[in-house]
Parts: sequence; C-alpha cells; structure tokens
Amino acid sequence: MDKKLIAECEAYSKEYMDYLSVAKTERRAYSQAVKLLEKAGFKDISKFKTLKLGDKVYRGYHGKTVMAAIIGKKPMVEGIRVVGGHTDAPRLDFKPKPLYEKDGVVYFDTHIYGGIKKFQWLVLPLAIYGTIVKKNGVKVDVAIGDKPGDPVFMISDLLPHLAHDLEQKKLKEFFPAEDLDVIASVGKKEELLKIIKKEFGVDEADFLSAELEVVPAGMPREVGLDRSLIAAYGHDDRVCAYAGLSALLKLKGTPDVTASIVMCDKEEIGSMGATGMQSSFFENTVAELLVRQGSTMDIDVRRCLEKSTMLSADVTAAADPHFKDVDSTGNEAKLKGGPALSKYTGGTSKGGASDARAEFVAVVRKFLDDDKVTWQMAELGKMEKGGGGTISQYMARFGMDVIDFGTPLLNMHAPWELATKEDCYWTFRAYKAYFEA
Ligand code: MN
Ligand code: MN
Repeated sequence: MDKKLIAECEAYSKEYMDYLSVAKTERRAYSQAVKLLEKAGFKDISKFKTLKLGDKVYRGYHGKTVMAAIIGKKPMVEGIRVVGGHTDAPRLDFKPKPLYEKDGVVYFDTHIYGGIKKFQWLVLPLAIYGTIVKKNGVKVDVAIGDKPGDPVFMISDLLPHLAHDLEQKKLKEFFPAEDLDVIASVGKKEELLKIIKKEFGVDEADFLSAELEVVPAGMPREVGLDRSLIAAYGHDDRVCAYAGLSALLKLKGTPDVTASIVMCDKEEIGSMGATGMQSSFFENTVAELLVRQGSTMDIDVRRCLEKSTMLSADVTAAADPHFKDVDSTGNEAKLKGGPALSKYTGGTSKGGASDARAEFVAVVRKFLDDDKVTWQMAELGKMEKGGGGTISQYMARFGMDVIDFGTPLLNMHAPWELATKEDCYWTFRAYKAYFEA
C-alpha cells in the first residue's frame, strides 16, 4: 500500500476500534450505529411520509436490528443493493434465574450463546452488559467491567498441580458447559442481592426479564510490533457490519441503485427469532420503503427483492500457519489478502450453502478490480473438517443474487479475535465500491 492508502487504513482502523469499544453487545452495536446514522443525516422511517431520490432513511427493530438506505436513481422495483452483516457475537448469557451459592461462593449461572470453545472462557477478565426490564417497563442498563475502576468477573479453572485426572479428558469434556459460571461474590447470596439492589435498584425476580451478556472485559488493542493486527472481542461480525455502515455513511452523492445495509442479530444461533434474518423484518422494511415511493402492490416487493443483489458481509477463516491441515490448500484466505469472496459456504457437501452463480461472481470481480480493491477468493476450510453458514441462504430465498464476502480472521469465535487492519480497511473499500459501481 502507498503512503496515502496506509494513512486511510490507519484512520479507518481507529474509527472501527472506537466503534468496537462501545459495541460490545448487539444492542450497543445497534444504538451506536443509529447514532452514527443520525449524525450523517439519516432519519427514522417514521419521519418520512414519502421518500425521494437521495433521501437517507433507517428502520430499527427492537433495538437490535437495523436497515438503512440511501434512495437511488433507479426505481426500487428494479432492485436494490444490500450489504448485510450481523452484530451479535458468541458469548455467555445469564440464565433467567442466574444466582446460586455453592460452598460460600456466589455464581452467575450462564447459558452459551453461539459456537465457543469452552476452555477459552476460563481465567479471563469478563464484563457484564445488558438490560434488565422491570415489571413496570422501566429498563435498567448494565455495563460493568470496562470503565476505569470497575470490577471484572471470572470463571475459575483448576490448578495444574491437581489437574492430573482432568488432563486425561477430551477437550470437549474437560469442562462441562454447566460449569461455565461466573464468580459474582464470595459470601452469602443475600449479601450480594443487597449490593445489586443498591447499585441497580432491582430484585432477584427482575433477572427473569433481563438480557445480560458476559463478554471479555477490555478494549480492542493493536497487536504485533508492526501494529498490523487488531485484537478484539466480536470482530465476527462487527468488522463487516461496521464496514458496510461506514461505506454507506461515506457514500458521496446519490447512488444509481438504492444502497442499503442491514446490521442484524441472532446469526450466531441460526438467524432465528424476530431480530434474525429469518424473520420478516427485511422484507417488511423493503415494503415500507416502497410504499413511501408510491408502490402499493405486494408484487412490487417481490420484484424488488428478486432483482436485488446482496453482499453477505460475514467473516471467514484466515489460514493459520499452525493449523495448515484444515486449509483448502490453494483456496485458503490469507492475512492481508483483503476480504475473501466465497462463492459458497457450507460443509463437505456444500450443505446449507447459498452457492452464488458464476455470472454474479463476475459482476463482483469487475467492480472490485475497477476500483483497485485488494480482495481474494477463498473457501472456509478443507472438506471433511467442518464448515459454517451465514445469512446468505435466507436472503437468497427471495431469488436475489447473494455472495459471501468478508474479512478473514484468526481465531474466529475466540474471546479475542484477530484481524489485520489492511483486511478491515479493504472490506470497507470493497463494500463502498459495490455501492458506487
Ligand atoms: Mn459471522
Ligand atoms: Mn460467527
């Protein structure tokens, strides 16, 4: 990269790290995105009776999922462009009745959210974020573990001196999921409840209607003497979701084709639920956009969706020199190779994949090369080693062209994931090139 690009890459990385520092849960990723959208002149859809060329609009859902768009020159029935990423990340959720006392230690009982390697969550400073909703509807926001002076939390592990039996066990078995519980205090549960009442004004029963998430404590950091990497919790998939957001915010002028982003929830548990991409939120939002441009027929929604295209903005595995036996040799994503375009995901048989058609791949290649974007073509891994999926299949259902395209990561789904600054920057540039093509 030349000097100008390096400076742009550094500036972008800083912005992204600032976003990540705030966006430690899907709710916070959402509110921070809305803040940035409003600052850039985007308005809530309820403020628009009609929508015209160049209007900047967003529609949020349950404070977790958001779609934003800039209305383009072509009528929307001829299709729109979508960059869709997710903002939820693997973590430990509080159970509805989280508090229990065992031999003088009080714990928060947790439930795993998303695919984790359990042992990575032991002996790590942890923070707790979330919302408690009281019966009268009052919401209590919880954010503890990241402010200076805050306490952190931890899951304990066995000392090596006494771990002889434990070390004979299989990795998967050596720490039961039910034991991934966080030390809340030492003493009596009643004493802890008094502290909770004093700090947050809630009773034990209020945990029944709460969403509290245990995430790694700490802010994103630069990694390596060359500072070429960023270590952070939740790169997957805030790195792509933010790149899409940033590409939309920095779009100059009015696009030919309506440019839009989706930052959605629940991808890590199969995109289920009202705020996941299997819900009608996206379809309904497209209908809401169309009706404000004079379309009242349902067929217009179908036509728009079928003629649209989408970059399924989700991370992929970067080849790790220490784990070469899982690489699809010659088809693996390399660090600093730019975002990886994956024609298909899935496992050995492409099961569950949305296999993009070659014609669409050619279109994507062209706008990337025309804009001199660094990018690479890749598969997630070797056959018969595993696999994964993204939201692409749920969007392809509408008949639109969709392709997976996102940042390569080292140690994806670990409490701290690694991405190179260059790959983060080129992901943003790639999405911007798509909107501007
Ligand atoms: Mn993902
Ligand atoms: Mn994931």
